[in-house]
Amino acid sequence: MKHPNSDVAAGQPTGPSRVSPLAPTPVNVALAKTVEERAAAKKADPITTQSFDQTTPLARELAENTRRRMAIQAESLPLPSEPRIFTVANQKGGVGKTTTTVNLAAALARSGARVLVIDLDPQGNASTALGVEHRSDTVSVYDVIINDEPMSQVVQKSPEFDNLYCVPATIHLAGAEIELVSLVAREQRLRSALDAFLGQSDDDFHYVFIDCPPSLGLLTINAFVAAREVLIPIQCEYYALEGLSQLLTNIKLIERHLNPRLSVSTILLTMYDSRTNLANQVADDVRQHFPKEVLNTLIPRSVRISEAPSYGQTVISYDPTSPGSLSYLEAASEIARRGAPA
Ligand code: ATP
Ligand code: MG
Repeated sequence: MKHPNSDVAAGQPTGPSRVSPLAPTPVNVALAKTVEERAAAKKADPITTQSFDQTTPLARELAENTRRRMAIQAESLPLPSEPRIFTVANQKGGVGKTTTTVNLAAALARSGARVLVIDLDPQGNASTALGVEHRSDTVSVYDVIINDEPMSQVVQKSPEFDNLYCVPATIHLAGAEIELVSLVAREQRLRSALDAFLGQSDDDFHYVFIDCPPSLGLLTINAFVAAREVLIPIQCEYYALEGLSQLLTNIKLIERHLNPRLSVSTILLTMYDSRTNLANQVADDVRQHFPKEVLNTLIPRSVRISEAPSYGQTVISYDPTSPGSLSYLEAASEIARRGAPA
């Protein structure tokens, strides 16, 4: 039997070539964008969560997803009065930093916020997922940090959403850790460039997300110095909490010496699989240690989330009605509603 959390079990359409899931067809009344679209879609098929047979796990899953879609569609998120700048960091590799960065950014952009993603990882995964150019000859965050190129010359619009932008990373960034060592104000270079960009930009940005590499080197320090908030994705696996104390110690040091306004505002549990006791134990442990910071929303392990980047997309645009997409939309909503730390 398929697990009720599985996207496939939820009967989602496959591949990017399907009919747009935002079209007001019977199955997605909740995603119709305008009042007129919603009314037309409801008339075509007045689907409600009550109209599902709830006697099987699959039916319950469908009903629950429909309820979540309706709730997301119905809400409008508050916009912050000044840009909220997040560094998404964890020196452990493969815990979902990039996936979280691009999907939260897309979710907030979808809700109407103007969002900038800074790809600070030489792997350039965030640039790939946001569908922006990052060949080795592309001007990139490397030029901003090392050659004082203005960020406005480097930023690209993501084809994902109108108000989503990305400062791409290329392979050149791999050398930046060493090149930075001998530069003046080596820890503040990203902050100076970002402050100048935000100060000059015609339209205000509401959110900035900086995707960090899996290390605590000078690139990550630049991200901590540029940000106000740290978002730590934690994978619901056995070694999840190992290394966390080192990360928190480093953040404390940055706070003391380089950026007094920095705080760990948000922890997001990723790749959660409710079938395993281990995932539940890790989630409970993290909640116990960080009751204020952990978001209520858990990001499930989901095939849809992992395959979206291969189409140069976030899961928010690739499969907006999948459980993984709904979870990132819910996490974005929590972040927006909680607001910036005092
Ligand atoms: P790195 O440390 O290398 O930068 P990372 O912390 O940025 O890694 P990701 O690249 O976001 O981690 O994720 C690692 C892998 O796990 C990727 O292949 C990604 O597609 C996959 N992945 C991330 N989140 C999920 C999820 N919720 N369900 C399934 N796969 C996921
Ligand atoms: Mg990454």
